[in-house]
Amino acid sequence: MIQTVTGPAERGSLGRVLAHEHLLIDLSVFAPPPEDKSIPYREKLSLSNLRYVRKDPYLILDNAIMDETDTAIEEMKLFRAAGGGTVVDATLDTIGRDPLALRRISEESGVKIVMGCGFYVAASHPAYVRERTERELAEEILRDLTEGVRGTGIRAGVIGEIGTSAVVTPEEWKCVAAAGIAQRESGKGIHIHTSLYERNGIAVADKLLAMGVPPQKICIDHIDVDIREDYIKQLLDKGIYVEFDNFGKEYYISKREGNALNGRFAYDLERAQTVARLLDAGYGKQILLCNDICLKNMLCRYGGFGYAHILQNIRPMLGDCGVSDAQIEAMLTSNCADFLDDGGV
Ligand SMILES: [Zn+2]
Repeated sequence: MIQTVTGPAERGSLGRVLAHEHLLIDLSVFAPPPEDKSIPYREKLSLSNLRYVRKDPYLILDNAIMDETDTAIEEMKLFRAAGGGTVVDATLDTIGRDPLALRRISEESGVKIVMGCGFYVAASHPAYVRERTERELAEEILRDLTEGVRGTGIRAGVIGEIGTSAVVTPEEWKCVAAAGIAQRESGKGIHIHTSLYERNGIAVADKLLAMGVPPQKICIDHIDVDIREDYIKQLLDKGIYVEFDNFGKEYYISKREGNALNGRFAYDLERAQTVARLLDAGYGKQILLCNDICLKNMLCRYGGFGYAHILQNIRPMLGDCGVSDAQIEAMLTSNCADFLDDGGV
């Protein structure tokens, strides 16, 4: 069974799934005012300042905040019109999770939505994470999965994205353990957010596996920014999922200019070529494809490709790289359904 914000769904009813997106999110914690005061940091995002965020997404504060429910409904209608069926919203409480808005977006667009739960990176943790035990944090996750979020009765259907920073903090390890406990008792999949330039997915996956979490319920996210195929294969050889979730994000900033992107941010064509090689190597059942939309300029309304990017633009790109239609369909349907399905009724 897969839990959506409008109720339980059978795996066959999901259609094509984006396994990790955000419909509403506030990432202003990552967008401090830049030192260069000539940058229009406090302007609303518009065509006249788009060039700034195409180099560095956080130079304009407004780009880090997606808070328009009506816009999300229109974007979901475009996804549905392109042949999409379901979106996983991995937003957590401290970065803008809104169960009632997600339900409205789902009802008005016809797209099924699976909501996340748990704790994102330490920089965004609520203060109580430090004091509570693994078990207490797991109870909160389980409550979201079984009773619903904050008295709304709207249940989460996936655990995560659980945050891990470049150096995984003690509190983040505690939240990973809490997610593992909740997984064992709920059967749900776990999304692990990893820092873009590290290899922390290995240690985090090993911890969850040691707790008895089935490999097919673990997904390591964001492995497609600084693509290191040896690292990706190390993860895949554990039997877990890896997620190519930055389709639609293309930046280049030199190391000399310096920012959080570290001089490297892979392009969509490199992602597609890597996926094709991994499929040839036999890893097809363990790959998820999505956009992790978390910035305003990725929305169609603000000049981006929107949530239909995989279906409209990446599907033919993968085809040009030698990936068959059947392989693409499987990554968007059965792979996601296998990850989300808790095996219950
Ligand atoms: Zn995300």
